[in-house]
Amino acid sequence: MFRRFRFVGFLAIVALTATVLTGCKPAEQPKPAEQPKAQAPQVQEADVVIVGGGGAGLAAAVTAADEGAKVILIEKMPMLGGNTIRAGGAYNAVDPERQKKQNIEDSIEKHYQQTLDAGDRKGNPELVRILVENALDGLHWLESLGMQFKPEVYTVLGGLWPRAHSPVDPAGTGYVSTLKKAAEAKGVKILLETRGKELQVENGRVVGVVAVDASGKEQIFKARKGVILATGGFGANPEMRQKYNPSLGPNIPSTNHPGATGDGIVMAEKVGANLVGMEYIQLLPTCDPENGALTGWVGGSAEQMVFVNKEGKRFVAEDERRDVMTQALFKQTDAFMYVIVDSAAVPKNGVTSFGEKVDDLVARGKVFKADSIEALANKIGVPPKNLVETVKKYNAGVEKKKDEFGKKLLAKVEKPPFYASPRKPAVHHTMGGVQIDTKARVIGKDGKPIPGLYAAGEVTGGIHGTNRVGGNALADVIVFGRIAGRSVAKGE
Ligand code: ADP
Repeated sequence: MFRRFRFVGFLAIVALTATVLTGCKPAEQPKPAEQPKAQAPQVQEADVVIVGGGGAGLAAAVTAADEGAKVILIEKMPMLGGNTIRAGGAYNAVDPERQKKQNIEDSIEKHYQQTLDAGDRKGNPELVRILVENALDGLHWLESLGMQFKPEVYTVLGGLWPRAHSPVDPAGTGYVSTLKKAAEAKGVKILLETRGKELQVENGRVVGVVAVDASGKEQIFKARKGVILATGGFGANPEMRQKYNPSLGPNIPSTNHPGATGDGIVMAEKVGANLVGMEYIQLLPTCDPENGALTGWVGGSAEQMVFVNKEGKRFVAEDERRDVMTQALFKQTDAFMYVIVDSAAVPKNGVTSFGEKVDDLVARGKVFKADSIEALANKIGVPPKNLVETVKKYNAGVEKKKDEFGKKLLAKVEKPPFYASPRKPAVHHTMGGVQIDTKARVIGKDGKPIPGLYAAGEVTGGIHGTNRVGGNALADVIVFGRIAGRSVAKGE
């Protein structure tokens, strides 16, 4: 399935990410001895300075430029994209046009309530309202910029309802390539390997960013209208995770890119920003057991998946909240499961949403394939009798519309060949971050907006509450990225 780069293009990105990202240490400070002496930092000026070039930063950049602002975007890594480019790509939006064709009943109100409920009502209702009401417009905006989404929606894992849009290009590549192209066309200046390290404040107003370039030299970016923090979350920063949620332990792997170290949160806090929900860290139950990656499996829509433990038994409803599924998985042997699907879960072109060929995954031993459930059980080493019984019982439940674990979004697993993907939990999303208001202005500890400072995307907190609904993150970065871009350009 998915997105605008071709598969080969995506592989190139993965290879580039792997070589470049593993080889670089983005957060490294220059050694004092290497500091250039008596060399004044270079100063550049724009209306808007954006720190971070993932989905939120790029959406903000395009929007601010559309409003006539001169924009500089700095990105610390050698490539744009952050967690956005490696995400599964699911984008939630109530979409009467697409959903009607699939006979799916839905409403903005339903999306709103599900988002609030799934976060245990800790999300800010005003921000959730903005998210759900503007998600479709954000999707149409991306389409107007040339991004392509598939005609059908599905239920992404933990998404709770079939309203996830799937890009044509693999993973999150379509978002990043589309927005990068638009940003460049509108004159946004993008600087890679430029790490924002400090916000400059004058008379209570944020007026710029002190950054460090690839050679360790300081650079100053002055912002006439304001700075937008779009630096993402801190899922790849074990110390920060420990600080805010010690119960997770430092050794759990993460799906995140190595630059997700919470820099923007630290920078904002230093200038008085209020942080919210920092202890809420999302684990995804369906990650690669070897390295915590999102890739390397055959999933599909939540309806189509059956999770079984090493004993070949189910243990949770597969359409549940991500936190509920993860907690249930932690109670199973080795916190390990197989995701069982049938051929209906394999896209027609045989390529997953991450741009991986299912046949290649099978050949590499990442995924197991067999023509019967019994043969599949033998391949993965779970008791065949149990697995056959589990799938039989599950399918009978689908027929009766009464599942033993309360799963409500149901599809049978019955069309061979069958597939099993080994999976384990990994840290995926940090729901906490800097507090913002409805205009994406950063709120200080005194409850008032900090003049000149805006934020959007995973760097912010207070939207998703305790647990983010799957498919809501990309809607969040686009909706609030656009709001931040507009607010700063208009001086709101
Ligand atoms: P979001 O989904 O909120 O857009 P992403 O993780 O996709 O978040 O993107 C955040 C981007 O911000 C990443 O590309 C990351 O490398 C970048 N970033 C993080 N910290 C800094 C920093 N200190 N300076 C510049 N860029 C940063």
